Amino acid sequence: MKKFTDRQLMIFEKEVIDCADYVLLLGECLDSDMPCALKNRLILHKEECKTCQKFEKEYKNVISIAKTLKEDYSEKEIPKDTQKRLRSFVKALASN
Ligand SMILES: [Zn+2]
Repeated sequence: MKKFTDRQLMIFEKEVIDCADYVLLLGECLDSDMPCALKNRLILHKEECKTCQKFEKEYKNVISIAKTLKEDYSEKEIPKDTQKRLRSFVKALASN
C-alpha cells in the first residue's frame, strides 16, 4: 500500500478538495503515485468539475508534446515553466 506524502495527507484531510488541490496533485494521480483513497477523491472532484476536466486534457497534451520533443522526458520532472503555464491556464479557466 502506498503511503501518503505530507502534501497528499494535508490535502486528503481537507473536507473539500478544490481545483487548486487537483492541479497540484494531478501529476502524481496520473502516475498512480498516491494512495487510492486520495486518488478516488480527486477523481470525484474532477467528475463534477468542468475546469479540472479541461485542465487534465491540457495537461496530458503538454505531457505528450513534451515527450515527442524529448525522448527521455520524465513525467515526474515537469519543467518549472510548464508547471507555471498549466497553473495560469487553470486560473484563467477558473475565472471564466
Ligand atoms: Zn476543479
